[in-house]
Amino acid sequence: MCSNEDAWNTLRQEILECQQCPLSKSRTHAVPGEGPQNADLVILGEAPGRNEDLQGRPFVGAAGKLLTELLAGASIDRSAVFITNTVKCRPPENRPPAPREREICSPFLQRQLFLIRPKVVCLAGRVPAETILDTHVRMAAMHGKQFEREEQTYYVIYHPAAGLYTRRLMPIMEQDMSKLKLLLDQKTGHGTPSGEGQRRLTDFSSR
Ligand code: SF4
Repeated sequence: MCSNEDAWNTLRQEILECQQCPLSKSRTHAVPGEGPQNADLVILGEAPGRNEDLQGRPFVGAAGKLLTELLAGASIDRSAVFITNTVKCRPPENRPPAPREREICSPFLQRQLFLIRPKVVCLAGRVPAETILDTHVRMAAMHGKQFEREEQTYYVIYHPAAGLYTRRLMPIMEQDMSKLKLLLDQKTGHGTPSGEGQRRLTDFSSR
């Protein structure tokens, strides 16, 4: 019988060797993602960028550094989070991944989520939110909100790169990350919110 470890190794190898879409031709390394295989929280970004492509690791550039800071600011340990992207290979010139590329790559993500079974999947930016929620996304309206799809909880935040280019978003991004921590605590049963914390959770839930 195939163990979870076997399934992970097979999946990782398939991603590293994948040539199913045109992004395989321009990549340096595919970037499967990294983090604990039983993580309560998955963060899903758009696609690997230049540094990620060179190193084969997710969120290692300036946006990744900001993500680490935002997580730490909300008392979320990055090493406890599984981090990956909607497509596993870098699109040329950092363009957004095309719908067809996302569609071809999506079984890899679905298999990762099936193995991890996270309590919360955090959708970082418009592309992952539209990929998962299958709807047009206006980030200004959807950030900081929780969505339920097929017994999985999703939560939308701005992509960390947005904070690099639009500094006025930083307080909003910090607040969204704090709400994510509350949601995570509620889902894991750690520090179960009550009183003010529970009220704030109810405020940002979208059901
Ligand atoms: S983006 Fe996904 S589908 Fe395309 S080559 Fe990379 S791993 Fe394969």
